[in-house]
Amino acid sequence: MLFYDTKSYDKTNFDLLKRSFAVDITYVGVELNEQTAAMAKGYEVVCAFVNATINRDVIDQLVAGGTKLLAMRCAGYNNVDIKETCGKLRVVRVPAYSPYAVAEHAMALLLTLVRKTNHAYVRTREFNFSLVGLVGFDLHGKTIGVIGTGKIGSVFIDICNGFGMRVLAYDAYPKTEIKAEYVTLDELLRQSDIISLHCPLTPETTHLINAERIKEMKTGAIIINTSRGALVDSQALLEALRSKKLGGAALDVYEEERNLFYNDNSTKIMEDETLALLISMPNVLVTSHQAFLTNDALENIAKVTLQNIKDWREGKELVNEVCVDCKSQGTPLKHSEK
Ligand code: NAD
Repeated sequence: MLFYDTKSYDKTNFDLLKRSFAVDITYVGVELNEQTAAMAKGYEVVCAFVNATINRDVIDQLVAGGTKLLAMRCAGYNNVDIKETCGKLRVVRVPAYSPYAVAEHAMALLLTLVRKTNHAYVRTREFNFSLVGLVGFDLHGKTIGVIGTGKIGSVFIDICNGFGMRVLAYDAYPKTEIKAEYVTLDELLRQSDIISLHCPLTPETTHLINAERIKEMKTGAIIINTSRGALVDSQALLEALRSKKLGGAALDVYEEERNLFYNDNSTKIMEDETLALLISMPNVLVTSHQAFLTNDALENIAKVTLQNIKDWREGKELVNEVCVDCKSQGTPLKHSEK
C-alpha cells in the first residue's frame, strides 16, 4: 500500500498493526493529487485522507499504475469522484471510528467560544488577571440546533442534553430514536442560539449556511462547524460576523482548507484573506480539522482501514465500500446518476 500525506500519528498506529494484517506500507508525506498520483505505480492499494484530490485524472493515473483499491482513512468521501471510480477502482472508507471524538471537539469549541477560555489562557500566561471582556453566557437553557443527526450528531445531541440545553434537530432523513425535537430547517434557523453542523458535504448541502439562511437566524447566533468547510459560505459568514448579525463561529473545517490545514504555514504570508480576517476576530475560533484526533479514533482508523484491505485481498464482501451501487453507505448514488 502507498500511504499518502503521512503524519507521525498515522504512522505510529498503522505500524503497530500492519504485521497482524500482513500489509506492507510505504509512507509518503505528499498529498494525493494530479501531480503525485504517478507515485502509486505498482501499488495495488492506495491510502488517502480528507484533503486529497481524487478526480478523473487521478483515478485514471492510479488505475494505469495498477492500483485496484482506494482505502480512504476517513468517513467523508466528498473529495472522491465516486461515479468516476465505478468499474475502475474499488473504494473503501472508515464510516465510524469515534463519533465521540468529533462530538466532544464540537462541544470543546463551543465552550471555549462562549467562556473565552482561549483569551483567558493567553492573558494569564502574561500575568494579566483582568476579567474585563471575558463575560460569557450559560449554555443551560439555551436552544441549540443540530443539523445532521447521524452518528456524530446524535452523540452531540446527548452531550447538549447533559448541559440542560433545549435541542432542536434537522435531518433530511430523520431518525426515530433522537433525543431532540425535529423541526424544519427554517424553524431551526429561526429558533437556535447556537447551530452545529453534522451532515455530510453533498451537492445539496454545499453552502447550506449562506447569506440568505444567515438572515433567518437569530441576531447573535453562533455557528459550530466540525463537518466539512464548504457547508458554510465563508464570505457570507465573514460579512455576518462583521455586521454583528452572528455572535461567533467555531470552525474545525474551512472550505479552502486544502493546502493550508495540516501544514505549518507560520512563516508564510497568509494569502487567503477571508481566513486571515476570520482568524483575526476575537469571536472566531479555528482548529485545523482536528476533531477526529484522539488516540481512540486513530487506532480505530488504522484497524478498520487494514481490515478493509484484508477483506478485499481475501475476496470477502467489503462492508465499508462506497460505490454507485451500494445501498448501505452514506448517501448512495443511484444508477440513474451514473
Ligand atoms: P452519518 O452519515 O452518520 O450522519 C450524517 C447525517 O446527515 C445523516 O443522519 C444524514 O441523514 C444527514 N444528512 C444527509 N444529507 C443531509 C441534508 N441534505 N440535510 C440534513 N442532513 C443530512 O455521518 P457522521 O459519522 O455523523 O459524520 C458527519 C460528518 O462529519 C461527515 O460527513 C464528515 O464530513 C464529518 N466529519 C468530520 C470530522 C472532523 O475531524 N472534523 C471527522 C469525521 C467526520
